[in-house]
Amino acid sequence: MNAFYDILIVGAGHAGAQAAIALRQKKFEGSIGLIGNEKYPPYERPPLSKEYLAGEKPFERILLRPESFWAERDIDLLTGHRVSRIDHLGKTVALTSDDEISFDKLIWATGGSPRMLDCPGSQARNIHAVRSRADVDKIMAALPKVENVVVVGGGYIGLEAAAVLTKLDKKVTVVESLDRVLSRVAGEALSRFYEAEHRNHGVTLELEATVAGFETGDDGIATAVTLTDGRMLKADMFIVGIGIIPETGPLVAAGAATGNGVDVDQHCRTSLSDIYAIGDCAAHSNPFADGAMIRLESVQNANDQAKVAALDILGEETEYNTVPWFWSNQYDLKLQTVGLSTGHDSYVVRGDPDSRSFSVIYYRDGKVVALDCVNATKDYVQGRKAVVEGLNLDKDELVNTEIPIKEVGVR
Ligand code: ADP
Repeated sequence: MNAFYDILIVGAGHAGAQAAIALRQKKFEGSIGLIGNEKYPPYERPPLSKEYLAGEKPFERILLRPESFWAERDIDLLTGHRVSRIDHLGKTVALTSDDEISFDKLIWATGGSPRMLDCPGSQARNIHAVRSRADVDKIMAALPKVENVVVVGGGYIGLEAAAVLTKLDKKVTVVESLDRVLSRVAGEALSRFYEAEHRNHGVTLELEATVAGFETGDDGIATAVTLTDGRMLKADMFIVGIGIIPETGPLVAAGAATGNGVDVDQHCRTSLSDIYAIGDCAAHSNPFADGAMIRLESVQNANDQAKVAALDILGEETEYNTVPWFWSNQYDLKLQTVGLSTGHDSYVVRGDPDSRSFSVIYYRDGKVVALDCVNATKDYVQGRKAVVEGLNLDKDELVNTEIPIKEVGVR
């Protein structure tokens, strides 16, 4: 390990890895250190709750780059290290191992740690997160002896895990505290469609259900989850998918502006000089959210912010203003989302949900702000322009699936 890097990147997920890649693509010749707290080279996270959990893709196939790539590009991959402190004036970081590394520029790309439940029994060994390879390896090792699984949280992670485990013949119950699944990311029509799909596949959904605690045996293994209404759901495995807590401790301690994550400007600069933040932990003013300060937990955001930070460091003019996009695979359903539907005031459904291929188009103040496309890639591709340009697509034409979205009139 060097004691100094021109650019030190903390966090070796999608954002951190992409920042290092972008710097080398732009012919940056200085030294680059990439610190990761896991022991593995950078890998894709989305398959963890999908193909990797299903056993359909081995770990080698979800690596972001072949293992040899990093050394070939002269990027020092420092795996198994965690930064405990930042001295932004002295331009050094301290590792939990007590080693210190100096830098000229720092890119903070640490993502977040899974939010877990804090209630009686919540430390039991068979309560799992789905955030890292280690989490999913533990789940997969335990699965052969598991029949019943309770998944807490009806977001992407919880529902994707529920779909895979159902396919693996497990009996799955999803416990969601709100009155519909996917409420953070989608409108009601889409939530109801996914609820019906999960029920059709044999998943039990407990909506408006709040966890009070876990029953545990003498061996520290949880045997049931208790809900605040007194009911008890027995299971031999529990999976918690209730979001992440941005990993920002050392930046907060160093005095960076923080709130919901680390505040960054349009160039991904934090309030501390020569320190950037990118990816899941970076709160930024997003033009597709009316300029609100938001964090986006997505591959798109990680990659695009990484490129912006890299270009800014290299002195190139650039700003982060890319349209957000996401995807989720559940059963044979491919959901593709472009834009942000939060705060929409109306929506139209294009196509028949019963046909299992349809799109929901969201409007705010007479402009298309987002599309959720289920098995409807053509709509997703063609609808992007309407989101980027904030078009007021004619709703009567839009519901006519004979008319391709790119030919729908603008009012
Ligand atoms: P993720 O990316 O982990 O799927 P989301 O925030 O998209 O995270 O979804 C998490 C879901 O979990 C939300 O639908 C939220 O309402 C639900 N949730 C949050 N806390 C609890 C809880 N304590 N019990 C049950 N559901 C919860």
